[in-house]
Amino acid sequence: QKFVYDFTEGNRDMKDLLGGKGANLAEMTNLRLPVPPGFTITTEACKVYLDSGQEPPALRDEVSAHLDALERRMGKRLGQADDPLLVSVRSGAKFSMPGMMDTVLNIGLSDASVAGLARQAGDERFAWDSYRRLIQMFGKTVLGIDGDLFEEALEAAKTAKGATVDTDLGPDELRKLVKAFKKIVKARAGREFPQDPREQMDLAVMAVFDSWNGDRAKLYRRQERIPHDLGTAVNICSMVFGNLGPDSGTGVAFTRDPAGGQQGVYGDYLQNAQGEDVVAGIRNTVPLAELETLDKTSYDRLMQIMETLENHYKDLCDIEFTIERGQLWMLQTRVGKRTAGAAFRIATQLVDQGLIDEAEALRRVNGAQLAQLMFPRFDEEATVELLGRGIAASPGAAVGKAVFDSYTAVKWSRSGERVILIRRETNPDDLDGMIAAEGILTSRGGKTSHAAVVARGMGKTCVCGAEELDVDTKRRRMTVGGTVVEEGDVVSVDGSTGKVYLGEVPVVPSPVVEYFEGRMHAGAEDADELVVAVHRMMAYADRVRRLRVRANADNAEDALRARRFGAQGIGLCRTEHMFLGERRSMVEKLILADTEGERTEALEQLLPLQRQDFVELFEAMDGLPVTVRLLDPPLHEFLPDITELSVRVALAEAREDHNENDLRLLQAVHRLHEQNPMLGLRGVRLGLVIPGLFTMQVRAVAEAAAARKNAKGDPRAEIMIPLVGTVQELEIVRDEAEQVIAEVERATGVGLRLALGTMIELPRAALTAAQIAEAAEFFSFGTNDLTQTVWGFSRDDVEASFFTAYLEKGIFGVSPFETIDRDGVGSLVRSAAAAGRATRPGLKLGVCGEHGGDPESVHFFHEVGLDYVSCSPFRIPVARLEAGRAAL
Ligand code: ADP
Ligand code: MG
Ligand code: MG
Repeated sequence: QKFVYDFTEGNRDMKDLLGGKGANLAEMTNLRLPVPPGFTITTEACKVYLDSGQEPPALRDEVSAHLDALERRMGKRLGQADDPLLVSVRSGAKFSMPGMMDTVLNIGLSDASVAGLARQAGDERFAWDSYRRLIQMFGKTVLGIDGDLFEEALEAAKTAKGATVDTDLGPDELRKLVKAFKKIVKARAGREFPQDPREQMDLAVMAVFDSWNGDRAKLYRRQERIPHDLGTAVNICSMVFGNLGPDSGTGVAFTRDPAGGQQGVYGDYLQNAQGEDVVAGIRNTVPLAELETLDKTSYDRLMQIMETLENHYKDLCDIEFTIERGQLWMLQTRVGKRTAGAAFRIATQLVDQGLIDEAEALRRVNGAQLAQLMFPRFDEEATVELLGRGIAASPGAAVGKAVFDSYTAVKWSRSGERVILIRRETNPDDLDGMIAAEGILTSRGGKTSHAAVVARGMGKTCVCGAEELDVDTKRRRMTVGGTVVEEGDVVSVDGSTGKVYLGEVPVVPSPVVEYFEGRMHAGAEDADELVVAVHRMMAYADRVRRLRVRANADNAEDALRARRFGAQGIGLCRTEHMFLGERRSMVEKLILADTEGERTEALEQLLPLQRQDFVELFEAMDGLPVTVRLLDPPLHEFLPDITELSVRVALAEAREDHNENDLRLLQAVHRLHEQNPMLGLRGVRLGLVIPGLFTMQVRAVAEAAAARKNAKGDPRAEIMIPLVGTVQELEIVRDEAEQVIAEVERATGVGLRLALGTMIELPRAALTAAQIAEAAEFFSFGTNDLTQTVWGFSRDDVEASFFTAYLEKGIFGVSPFETIDRDGVGSLVRSAAAAGRATRPGLKLGVCGEHGGDPESVHFFHEVGLDYVSCSPFRIPVARLEAGRAAL
């Protein structure tokens, strides 16, 4: 097994073995770009080290051989006293990760070689500056010494000299600083700073390996769902020096604007500096464009290299470079991060430049980015005070009055105030407040904190872990720097950027939503570039996708919006939403009915109302399928709350004021009360025990369809029976439904072809899908309930209680209610789909439930061969895009 690869031996496809940095250094080397020579120790070596506690026995010799070759090539030995070869030791995992060990530069310098370096460079200051940097970085990252100690010593030296920037320090001061740094090392690490160059290098390599299992790195991996067993590579790269005077420097650049996507010169440059100086904000950088006047030759070469990289990677790249006395060196490149908007713009720009085709462009964007672009956002022009910044945990733009406890949040929101709930961290007791608030802001916790998880589940704006905010819940205020925010002060929270503002920031609608709504046209002359890009990607996704996309919608208004957003029908119309409001009293009557007559009366009152609902819905979705689900929730949801009612009855009794109806209601509430309503009298069970309920609903659908046909419409109703566990349930309901439909056909003289199908949302239904398909013309997987019943989780309870613990422990990377659990729930979907189709080859298969609009899950549903997904109207564009990506 080979553990070390020269930069000339790797390429960009070897990220697993060489890490991202190493693979791309190799790629640039092969492109004959000026990369300082070096080699990469593989992730495999790291894994052996982490598993066994020792580096693989062969590693030392292999490193020696590569180091020898490097030394021969450079004509000097590592740390050679009169002319030292220096190297950097750089971590580089497959994914870049905060918390991993930083890079150590200038390895090879020692008391002996610092003089040699000074002589060779003809620059004392430079040599001692490099040495102090080595001790500082090595002390901090390899020996684990508090970095502030070095910073303080550096500041003291500057103050003593009256210097404002570190370049003002001369060789003498730097020599003294080295002495001070070495003292710090001795005192804190209990050992001398190692003088042997190879020992320096080996210790640094091992420290990189160890940092893989550092707490911060582990936490980050859990949050980002990066596997823990990848290990990191280590790059050994010969040093080039940007701190050799004014004709040297270091910089970072993007091949195009990562925020907007435009091509141009984007980056920063810092003269006479090394490594991180440019990003650390130690001195003021200049815009990259100024390099043209500072060093035209290097600038031109850099522009040329950036073009080479873009053409080669066919994507936006970010780069790190250094200029050593007029000679340009490339130190890093990778395909760069970008904003959601830039992702769409860049993808289409690259198509227009002929660099990639449309299929590749579609791979470069995703549904999560599209969803982000659909949230309303804060007006960028607005001038407001930025209070601080946290983790963008759940997107959206929320404005409201600051409140610091759940009780106040609920109280104020009831009186019509918009509030932002601000907590140090949230816990299950804050749930009511979170529901009441426009947005949630916490000063602690990451992407898997309670606040973040619950807010995402509710689709509510959330910024968490804004550490600068000092939240004092007792005194109902928070302080940020010098600013005090009291209860009632207005704050604005941007869940897409993590920024928190004082005062009200105006919210503007997303141009992408304006486009989907048809209020903005991609064809217009002055069309927004982003809108055009989204339009093109959507058109392409629609062309290639196989999955159809339907909407979950219960009324004509939602149905029309869904159509504008591209829905190809309704996959779930929840009829219980038609039983609310003033109709609740009719439902009450139905539940309280003692006699056949009372029941029929109640049903007859409901029938015309339901029919009218369906007429409107079928009209809105004319020509497209509409799946109507018969009544699903437990009946007590339509009755008054048991405690409230008991109190009311008790008070009335005390006044000796008998209310017959309330008494009957209370009896019914008691009768219908269930310990476990989710597993109780609901779904098909209602249809089987309450005579006439389902047949009334079927009649309403059939009569509405007949009415639409008579009006020359094209209704395509499908009737769906929920919560079926066995084919017998379905058969009984189906037979009754068919009779009703036949009656309506006879009475109206209109031929109706209504499809009858079922939801698959219980494990037993999935397991007996072959039998159920005998009686069903379609299946719709109800993955919300299926997830609840397969896991034995009650969604309403568990997300707020123990899911954060599960996420933190890595039991699952994401809530199974957010993304389908492929292995468990998913495998039931897969086998039920296959079994159903084996019985009935033309069986139509779909999914309704949150998962229908989740990118990951859409790919899964494509894979298992479903015909459509159904999701809320706002998720339709996301589902369309991802269905297209799944088909690539
Ligand atoms: P990070 O992953 O944090 O970007 P890097 O390994 O890229 O860490 O290094 C940190 C800084 O040191 C970067 O600015 C990089 O350009 C610089 N650097 C790394 N190796 C060398 C080298 N051999 N010569 C000069 N500068 C280097
Ligand atoms: Mg870097
Ligand atoms: Mg259900």
